[in-house]
Amino acid sequence: MQYRSFTKDGKKPSLLGFGCMRFKSKNGVVDKELAFNQLYYAYENGVNYFDTAYVYHGGKSEVILGEFIKKYNIRDKVFIADKLPSYLINKSEQIEEFYNTQLKRLDTTYIDYYLMHMLDSLAAWEKLKNFGILEFIETKKRLGEIKNIGFSFHGVEEEFIKILEDYSWDFCQIQYNYLDEHNQAGTAGLKMAYKLGIGVVVMEPLRGGRLATKAPDKVKEIFENYRAKRSPAFWGLRWVMNHKEVSVVLSGMNNINHIKENIKVANLTKPNNMKPHEIKIIEQVKQVYAELMQVPCTGCNYCMPCPFGVAIPYTFSDYNDKYFFGHSMTTRFMYMLRATGFGIEKASGANLCRWCGKCIKHCPQHIDIPAKLSEAHNELSNPIIMKALETGKKLIKK
Ligand code: SF4
Ligand code: SF4
Repeated sequence: MQYRSFTKDGKKPSLLGFGCMRFKSKNGVVDKELAFNQLYYAYENGVNYFDTAYVYHGGKSEVILGEFIKKYNIRDKVFIADKLPSYLINKSEQIEEFYNTQLKRLDTTYIDYYLMHMLDSLAAWEKLKNFGILEFIETKKRLGEIKNIGFSFHGVEEEFIKILEDYSWDFCQIQYNYLDEHNQAGTAGLKMAYKLGIGVVVMEPLRGGRLATKAPDKVKEIFENYRAKRSPAFWGLRWVMNHKEVSVVLSGMNNINHIKENIKVANLTKPNNMKPHEIKIIEQVKQVYAELMQVPCTGCNYCMPCPFGVAIPYTFSDYNDKYFFGHSMTTRFMYMLRATGFGIEKASGANLCRWCGKCIKHCPQHIDIPAKLSEAHNELSNPIIMKALETGKKLIKK
């Protein structure tokens, strides 16, 4: 296994991190025996970074990870990354309550890497600060109950940079893969974090597995014609790991063959290790995706911010995904979460567009932004699900 520098404490987590959000289930419950076997295989092969969250598997992910660590008595040999469900916090005292529940579920006395889960804007971080998060972090760090503090991010680049610069973070977690170079935090965000000495964990290196399992036939053909036999997953992970700025790459693994393959890529791929002919393969693949694109949005962000809160590049990315990977419900659902603001600080869907036209003149691609947003919203949303999410959001806020 490869271990890169990460946070200032000098600890070295494994380049491949085990994402504990996709354990296999049997009769509706997580198959614990299978999960333990897979976790142990990864551990034995050098994986020491295990990532979970309050909400994964309805809280069972933390419990299973805690039991696994206890069973093999390896607490001092592994790193636990866990996340505060920031979007569920309405009162200051909930921060401590969530944290204590997490310690109990994990059966531990400290968390190595603690993240504010799913920040989407500086406003979301400001909200936590108003609830006293800074005092909480300071106390827990002083007591040694939290070793490193970070945040996971889903939003636009400019908000990411604002959050990065607002606090002395130890690390951050971003979505990054060869289709997201200009989307979300993007390459610019990755490089900025690195420059500031903030460790970077990458999530969604395969865009929720779709770059691996839903690759269009033309993409598969390009990979199959390469001289060595490599899966789309291998290529996707190798591309991310090739970046020196990346310290940990998370994979939500639940298949032993995938675990073996991911370990192999993490062993092989040193920073800046890809040869020019390999980079060329990825460029060809990106070209196939570019041809399937519905909106030629490069994610440059010049149209942002929208005065009515529409996350323009983000919406176009979801819209394009629908054509890249087929009519996946996941893409539509993620869009509807954003459109309704369910589980995040504020709604940012295309339905907020008021056709003011401010964005159009800034777009170097000359996209008719409001018209394309309307098209995207019609194709990505479903009125019944939108209504249910709106209702759910109101109930959570009470
Ligand atoms: S046209 Fe729509 S998306 Fe563009 S700035 Fe105005 S409200 Fe925002
Ligand atoms: S300015 Fe145009 S290309 Fe750039 S993010 Fe906005 S819509 Fe996309």
